[in-house]
Amino acid sequence: MEIIKSPRELQSMVIDIKKQHKEIGFVPTMGAFHEGHTSLMKQARKENDLLITSIFVNPLQFGANEDFDTYPRNADHDIEIAKKHGVDILFMPEVEDMYPQELSIRMHVTKRTNVLCGKSRPGHFDGVVTVLTKLFNIIMPNRAYFGLKDAQQFAVVDSLITDYNFPIELIGLPTIRDNNGLANSSRNVNLDQAEYEEALWLYRALKHGQQMIKAGEKNPQLIISEVNNIIAANTSGTIDYIEVLSYPELTPIKQIDSLIILAVAVKFSRARLIDNMLLDKDGNIVPSLR
Ligand code: AMP
Repeated sequence: MEIIKSPRELQSMVIDIKKQHKEIGFVPTMGAFHEGHTSLMKQARKENDLLITSIFVNPLQFGANEDFDTYPRNADHDIEIAKKHGVDILFMPEVEDMYPQELSIRMHVTKRTNVLCGKSRPGHFDGVVTVLTKLFNIIMPNRAYFGLKDAQQFAVVDSLITDYNFPIELIGLPTIRDNNGLANSSRNVNLDQAEYEEALWLYRALKHGQQMIKAGEKNPQLIISEVNNIIAANTSGTIDYIEVLSYPELTPIKQIDSLIILAVAVKFSRARLIDNMLLDKDGNIVPSLR
């Protein structure tokens, strides 16, 4: 495995790789690897000649009062995990490598962002599409792998690829959970023991919402209300949102009659957690998208 820091160096390696007609799979991450990340690496490894993973905690996608400084970073551990999972090139640029000077052209996402995390984290998805545009241009992947844990991100990246004609196949893979249902997240290390137990209620509440749809409930408001009650009754966290929206358009719906996202975000003392389920009109989980 090669570890590369310089965008220019990686770009020239990629140009050589392309000359050999090798297909590149790309897994962008912010590091502090867990099984959510490695599941993406495993799938990308299977489907491509070469696997490139990036680790970059992108300051542009963090708000002024968010956790950029305290975001978990663990380079040595990540390098070992990446090696084990067959990563060929691990791209680990510094902030100065990615943003050597202030950008003179800004990207702004206008759809799929006035809800969910886009609403409570203004500018977040502008930062995400900016860094991904740079990474896509440096790495020129044939396929890019994302987790549906971040389903709004997946919907926004889908727009980025379509709107700006990136010749990239977008692949969305299932949310990986602990045995007790908690979605793996780099931020879980910032939960204390009591909060960890409480955080299990996010998935329990989502499952309750799913069961309501399975039992024939079509009214999003009734589902939101019960999911809200479960989380409010069982956690000390502050509910940021609970929403049911069409997917991937992320527009409000009156009636559940096609693919929807049921999504929650809860702020604990040192970690804001998100989780969701993508469900068809009968309440069956849609685990992956491509
Ligand atoms: P992050 O490092 O948190 O930016 O995540 C990098 C990639 O891993 C994104 O595509 C995430 O959606 C994905 N990911 C994070 N957590 C999980 C999880 N629990 N299951 C599946 N994918 C995940």
